[in-house]
Amino acid sequence: MEAAADGIWLVDPDGRTVFVNDALATMLGYPADEMRGRFFFDFLDADARLEAMHVLQRRASGESVPDDFRFLRRDGTSRWASVSIRPVIDAQGSFGGAVATVTDMTFRRSLEADHHRLLQEARTAIELRDAFFSVAGHELRTPLTGLRLALATLSRGLVRRPEEAVEWERLQRKVAGAESMVNQLASLVTDLLDVSRVSSGPLPIARTELNLTTLCASVVDRFHEQLNRARCPLALDLAPEVVGRWDESRLDQVLTNLLANALKYGAGAPVLLKLTASRDEARLVVEDHGIGIAPEDQARIFDRFVRAVSEKHYGGLGIGLWVVKQIVTAHGGRVWVESQPLAGARFSVALPLG
Ligand code: ADP
Repeated sequence: MEAAADGIWLVDPDGRTVFVNDALATMLGYPADEMRGRFFFDFLDADARLEAMHVLQRRASGESVPDDFRFLRRDGTSRWASVSIRPVIDAQGSFGGAVATVTDMTFRRSLEADHHRLLQEARTAIELRDAFFSVAGHELRTPLTGLRLALATLSRGLVRRPEEAVEWERLQRKVAGAESMVNQLASLVTDLLDVSRVSSGPLPIARTELNLTTLCASVVDRFHEQLNRARCPLALDLAPEVVGRWDESRLDQVLTNLLANALKYGAGAPVLLKLTASRDEARLVVEDHGIGIAPEDQARIFDRFVRAVSEKHYGGLGIGLWVVKQIVTAHGGRVWVESQPLAGARFSVALPLG
């Protein structure tokens, strides 16, 4: 009996403990001799006693009920154990007490609770993913539709006979529109790829010597059409040369995301792009005068899939700022926002030069 891994409990015909093996004593945290002479119920916690009475009664009347009981250990902690009881009948056929085997279930119960939690998390993640795909599909379709329309106009313009006047300006506008749609699509796809890439490890950064002023100018150039459409006059305040060792395409992504947000959430009002440098860091500021962000949302918007606006009013996947934060952090920098609801938002990025 001492060799058994499960607890073994012997009680006399009155129900008093006659013997417990080491496994049981250890499970309940008592020295074996302290348990001797006491009743099974003495070792259940107060609430569990009543429950246990019901269980035993129902079992006596032939019902099959679970046989887990909550025991109270000597140190006050509780422990779930499954108990299987058999009467002891002596050679003369008279009742000689009972023997119980007791199996510790705390570990199994905690495993079950873990499984339950994991299942719940997996369900939530799947729901989130489904919702994400539907929004992503929608987001990708919007610029595609624009692109298709622009291309249709262009091809109509091209099939006209040469003697008919081609409206060059209109065509040029359409080309610019198409380019801007392609840019939007490209930046969406880049962000989407990062969502899966970052889940599998830190973002790889390829540093080269880079003049951030030049990069700012080239991103702004690409935004020309989008700025017009959003009716956002852009003020540029760029230090003449800010050179550091950074990943060009990654910082392009940072600027693209911040500017795209400024136009989306601050349409119709001026936007400022500012670049300054101190001895050891560069600082980028993108400031708009749009809807702003409530104080309680200002930290969470940098998390993945978090949005602080209604889907009905503003399209978006909720990954842009998360990508920005991953990139800036991978460069050893910081990104933060200052904002007043309805008064606009100012996003700042600080990047170490080295
Ligand atoms: P998305 O714009 O696709 O929703 P982002 O990760 O870029 O995703 O932004 C997360 C959220 O932060 C947005 O849904 C919006 O609520 C808020 N936000 C971001 N930029 C601005 C801004 N310039 N003005 C107001 N709110 C903003």
